Amino acid sequence: MHANMRNPMSFLHKSLLGYRSLNCASSRRHISTLVISEHEGGSLKGSSLNALAAASLLGEKNSVSLLVAGSSSESLESVAKQAFSSCPFISQVLVAESDKLKHPLAEAWAELILLAQQQGKYTHVMAASTSFGKNVLPRAAALLNVSPISDVVKVMDERTFVRPIYAGNALSTVKYKGNEPCLVTVRPTSFPVDTSDSVNCASSPACPVTTLDVTDLNSEIIDKSTWLGQVSQQSERPDLGSAKVVISGGRALKSKENFKMLELLADKMGGAVGATRAAVDAGYVPNDMQVGQTGKIVAPQLYVAIGVSGAIQHLAGMKDSKVIVAINKDPDAPIFQVADYGLAGDLFEIIPELLEKLPEKKQ
Ligand SMILES: Cc1cc2nc3c(=O)[nH]c(=O)nc-3n(C[C@H](O)[C@H](O)[C@H](O)COP(=O)(O)OP(=O)(O)OC[C@H]3O[C@@H](n4cnc5c(N)ncnc54)[C@H](O)[C@@H]3O)c2cc1C
Repeated sequence: MHANMRNPMSFLHKSLLGYRSLNCASSRRHISTLVISEHEGGSLKGSSLNALAAASLLGEKNSVSLLVAGSSSESLESVAKQAFSSCPFISQVLVAESDKLKHPLAEAWAELILLAQQQGKYTHVMAASTSFGKNVLPRAAALLNVSPISDVVKVMDERTFVRPIYAGNALSTVKYKGNEPCLVTVRPTSFPVDTSDSVNCASSPACPVTTLDVTDLNSEIIDKSTWLGQVSQQSERPDLGSAKVVISGGRALKSKENFKMLELLADKMGGAVGATRAAVDAGYVPNDMQVGQTGKIVAPQLYVAIGVSGAIQHLAGMKDSKVIVAINKDPDAPIFQVADYGLAGDLFEIIPELLEKLPEKKQ
């Protein structure tokens, strides 16, 4: 199945079209949504904007609150302002500042969501389906005694969501019954962001920031886990999850050194490098480069799969890419079934030729 499940609608006027497609009864109900943000170095992560885009599709009468939390050393106010200028439909930004929230530990953040939910009585709590969101939201759902719906790719109406199952081979429509809050993680690539609706920070109205009192955070539970450290790859290349071009390699690359060819190709094309699980397991690349069911979900404008067989678990992570190019020496490789363009041949001949012919990327 190669259905493009991405919702073509985006912020504001486009999402208003989405409101109209909701049934009248649901659109009359008041909805209040708490979106859990992620930020790094004083900047809101793109995936949080995708979560906000999803929240904007829930209904006409939806007041959207964004939760921005972290330690006192972080510039939470600037994250709040940035969020508000990107998404002027945000009704309020809830800022929670505590050293207990310095690290993305599920124990602390789930307690925070519980606290915010007890105070705000939101009808919906949403987060992006990132490692953080997938870690935190189910725990918060357990604390609230509701069942979360994960990896949503489409909002049907305020309580009905579509999510992939069986490694993306089928879509399941799930509806919340009763009046419990809906706790949902959304797949970022399914809710694109249209930045044309963003407003200039300087000219935008004052960002409505409310401080959330976190003195009641349950230390007994939070102290059960300790942050040991974080190892992240420093790279000039775009982030794999949001890159417009992704060059992915498989086991056929045979070594870490050979993966450098893909890095050169990615640099020439302004893209990110991804990999199959087989390439990760073989130690050619770190596991944060894995694309697929148990890796990252990507949907770039161009996905180039090199020496990748096209196993179902890999396809689950990239089949929504706009244009797929496959290079494989086996003309019967399953990857060709989802490829828009296929090159049957030896990657060790094709890649050097491509590198030679492609112009250097303009700075
Ligand atoms: C529960 C579970 C979860 C999984 N999650 C993921 C996941 O998230 N992501 C993922 O990728 N996989 C995942 N897998 C593994 C998946 O099933 C495949 O094993 C894996 O994707 C295969 O990787 P590959 O295509 O690199 O290797 P292979 O299957 O070995 O394919 C290599 C391909 O390279 C081609 N080739 C060989 N030499 C050359 C050459 N010189 N030039 C051109 N082509 C060449 C071959 O024809 C072949 O098609 C998961 C598996 C399980 C069971």
